Amino acid sequence: MQISQRDSGRGPGRLTVVSTGPGFPEYIAPQARAALNAAQVVAGYRTYVDLIRPLLQGQEVVATGMKAEMERCRAAVDLALKGRRVALVSGGDAGIYGMAGLVLEICAARRLKVGPPEAGNEVDFHLEVIPGIPALAAAAALLGAPLMHDFVAVSLSDLLTPWETITRRVELAAQGDFVIVLYNPQSKRRNWQLAAVRDLLLKHFTPETPVGVVRRAMREGQEVVVTTLGKMLTHEVDMQTIIIVGNSQTYVYGPYMITPRGYLGKYGSVISNQ
Ligand code: SAH
Repeated sequence: MQISQRDSGRGPGRLTVVSTGPGFPEYIAPQARAALNAAQVVAGYRTYVDLIRPLLQGQEVVATGMKAEMERCRAAVDLALKGRRVALVSGGDAGIYGMAGLVLEICAARRLKVGPPEAGNEVDFHLEVIPGIPALAAAAALLGAPLMHDFVAVSLSDLLTPWETITRRVELAAQGDFVIVLYNPQSKRRNWQLAAVRDLLLKHFTPETPVGVVRRAMREGQEVVVTTLGKMLTHEVDMQTIIIVGNSQTYVYGPYMITPRGYLGKYGSVISNQ
């Protein structure tokens, strides 16, 4: 599609991919709010649009269901090509299993010329991605300090990724003694994968390894559980849950999970003398 198809007399449109954070509006960056205010059209998955609906003031809303990612990204791109100011909302951080990638892939596949707002008029539309608090950071904050050392995130969703790839990555992360963050751990239909991953992890970590299970982080109905690898399957896990499996050094202190960075080993005498 070329610039000539823009509504006549207008400059390039704008597509802002807006990260909406884990849930409550207090966790949305001021820049994201400004982008929503400046938009004429707000597009997104119904659940995320509903979370930010209190922030909207009369913008046109295009809310679609979960499986309609392609459709809503394409619609957002088409509206921006027509010269409109569009905000595409994406939960957590848009660049982590979010909409930023799909938007850019669509632009690349259609050979659209996109660039940041300072790119001037020589683009089909301006594209900007506004970052947000990802579920892993929200969950880590609720659990204490589980991500203080090297960590890996793996999505257990095998809708787009072959199951062998997922298990290979989990296996390598466990071999490397990484803290492991499990996104998309389980849904009504994907109900055996989490147990399979747990069994795989038990080959490398003891059953006492601390595990944090966080459901609906920073949303209504939040649940935070610190359990162990041996017992983790006894807790309720759904698509609004994220799981953090500690490494061999992670320990529990009161309601918190701590993965030591190594300060105490190196400077411990200084701390205990105070
Ligand atoms: N872009 C998002 C991730 C989208 S993938 C981010 O940056 O976090 C969707 C998965 O993210 C869910 O299945 C769940 O594992 C996790 N997730 C997203 N929001 C969450 C929340 N508030 N609490 C717990 N897990 C969440």
